[in-house]
Amino acid sequence: MQDLFAEQLKALRAASLDRHLREISSSQGPEIEIDGQRFVNFSSNDYLGLANDPRLREAAMAAIDEFGVGAGASRLISGTQSPHVRLERALAKWKGTEAALCFSSGYAAALGTIPALVTKNDVVLLDKLCHASLIDGAKLSGAILRVFPHNSLRKLESLLEWARREHPGKRVLIVTESVFSMDGDRAPLRELVKLKKRFDALLMLDEAHAVGVIGPNGRGLAAQENLNEDIDVQMGTLSKALGTSGGYICGSRDLIEWLINRARSFIYSTAPPPAIAAAALAAVNFLSSSEGEERRLLLGERIKLMQELLPRTGLNKEQSAVSSAILPWLVGDEQAALDLATALKSEGFLVPAIRYPTVAKGSARLRITVTAAHEENHIRSLCEAIKRLSRGGGA
Ligand SMILES: *Cc1c(COP(=O)(O)O)cnc(C)c1O
Repeated sequence: MQDLFAEQLKALRAASLDRHLREISSSQGPEIEIDGQRFVNFSSNDYLGLANDPRLREAAMAAIDEFGVGAGASRLISGTQSPHVRLERALAKWKGTEAALCFSSGYAAALGTIPALVTKNDVVLLDKLCHASLIDGAKLSGAILRVFPHNSLRKLESLLEWARREHPGKRVLIVTESVFSMDGDRAPLRELVKLKKRFDALLMLDEAHAVGVIGPNGRGLAAQENLNEDIDVQMGTLSKALGTSGGYICGSRDLIEWLINRARSFIYSTAPPPAIAAAALAAVNFLSSSEGEERRLLLGERIKLMQELLPRTGLNKEQSAVSSAILPWLVGDEQAALDLATALKSEGFLVPAIRYPTVAKGSARLRITVTAAHEENHIRSLCEAIKRLSRGGGA
């Protein structure tokens, strides 16, 4: 056994695909500490700088005082405490849906929800760039799985025709993201809704990187496009712009009731700590406030600055022109991406090199994430360093 893993690890290293943990010895924020050294952090999904916000900290501490630390049981047994109930009500109100349900992570939300919606002989149609949690959920469901090229409406349409012809009377579920996690671009939501209606399919939209970033009060792409009513399953996570931890599904009351009865990752897992639910509620309340909206607009300014300063040359010409907090800097070669990340680190910037299997082989990249907590100077100096180190862009 020992030898087997050693061999496998050697192969990973040879392909520059090995990964390692690093210990962060500070709280999250635009600057973090590793091994006693400070780095400007362009690698977190804490888009609004809420992970260490005093409002969230205080909400969590107050909830610990009142409810303790552990939830003690799964939600259906005796783990549903007042903070969970309050959070779900607030989420539904904020997202404009009848009801909401929280899971211990976004990953668990996908893994529990998709198999509750479709089963053997049903069909799942998945965008090629969907997050691993959605792929895993689709596989676990046992449904027939087809992947369409990223954002390709034409291919999706032909798959829908195929599904209706070859699998009559079965459920068809389209799964996509509103803002894609590694490319930062968006799904053509309006057209997707048209297709799903025409073929009487279900649509599940993962808003993990859209909530807090786009739409009025950060409610995401569905809200921005006024399509709330047309999206059957709205998924999101509390662990990115909302600064805490956990995943959620928003939708009709019946959908949520069904998930409570069928989503195994919800049923067979201890409820999230009440303090986390209380902190997430504080985050939702903040986003709903005018101060929260100001913070989101500030993030928009930071994104704009980064887009202006990062030249679109070479491989990066295709870089998404739409505003999201994820700005990929394409490098291509795995080792070259690692080298660029290492060079940036030696200049005090933490920017992750994203490689296969998270992205396709040969499309390794720096995944730069901007937050409202970054100062203009953080962004200016990073962009200068990237331009200098990547020899004019797109090494
Ligand atoms: C991060 C992410 C998830 C998982 O959410 P967690 O709360 O981190 O488990 C799901 N979908 C997408 C698109 C993500 O980026």
